[in-house]
Amino acid sequence: LRLAGLKTTRSTIEVKGVTIGGKEIILMGGPCAVESSIQMSQSAATVKQAGGKILRGGVFKPRTSPYSFQGLGLEGLNYLVQAAKDQDLLCVTEVIDAASLELVVDKVDIIQIGARNMQNFELLKLAGKSKTPIILKRGLSATIEEWLLAAEYILAAGNSQVILCERGIRTFEPSTRNTLDLSAVGVAKELSHLPVIVDPSHAAGRRDLIAALSKAAIAAGADGLLIETHPNPAEATSDGPQSLTPEQFVQLAGELGVVAEAV
Ligand code: PEP
Ligand code: MN
Repeated sequence: LRLAGLKTTRSTIEVKGVTIGGKEIILMGGPCAVESSIQMSQSAATVKQAGGKILRGGVFKPRTSPYSFQGLGLEGLNYLVQAAKDQDLLCVTEVIDAASLELVVDKVDIIQIGARNMQNFELLKLAGKSKTPIILKRGLSATIEEWLLAAEYILAAGNSQVILCERGIRTFEPSTRNTLDLSAVGVAKELSHLPVIVDPSHAAGRRDLIAALSKAAIAAGADGLLIETHPNPAEATSDGPQSLTPEQFVQLAGELGVVAEAV
C-alpha cells in the first residue's frame, strides 16, 4: 500500500504567513455559527486579543436536527471574511457538499470538512482538486485508519495541504458530548506527516472542560487548537454550552503559552 500521507518527515502547511505544523501552536477560534456582522467582529477581536491566528465560523451548518439553525449561508460568509480581514486573521469555514464548496473555496483561507462528512468521498475528491488547505475532522465513529484514508482521498486528488483535526469520538460515556481521543494525536503523527490539531469544544460539549483538554492536547503534541468562543454564549444559535466567553478564551490562550513552552 503506497500512501501519499505516509512519510517520515513532517509537513507544514503555509497559509498567508501562518505555518501550521511548525514550532508554533496555532490557535483558531470563533463561534460555531456565524450569526451577525457584530458577532463576527467581536469574535475576531477576541481571537486577535488572544494571539490567535485563524477565525472560525460556520455558515453551512450540518445540524443534528433539521429544525435547528442551519446557518446564514453566503450572507454569513461575508461577515466571516470581513471580520477576519479587519483583524488581519485568516478564516476557516465548513463545507457540506459540492455547492457550498464551490461558493466558499476562493473566499476563505482554509476549508473545514466536518466529522459528519469525513467519509463523503465525492466531497473529499472535489476538495482535493482545489488548492485551498483543508481541515479534515475525524468522523464521529471513525478509526484513525479510516480518518487517514479519508485524508488520502484529498491528497490523492492533488491537494497536499491537509490538517487533521481530532474532535472527539462517540463512546459509551454520556458525561461529555464525545470522548476526546488524545492518543489519536500521537498515533496520527506517527502514521502520517500531516499536522494534527485538536478541537476540544466538540469533544467535551461543555465549556468547563475546555481549558484542561486544550492544555492536555498541547502536551500530547497537537500542532494547534480549534476552540469555539462566542461574545454571548447564552444567546448562541449553536453550541452555546461548549463555547467559551471572550474572557475565558483570552485567559486560556495566556495559560496555553506556558504549556507550549514546557513541551
Ligand atoms: C463545527 O466545527 O462546528 C462542527 C460541526 O464540528 P464537527 O464536524 O467536529 O462536529
Ligand atoms: Mn459547533
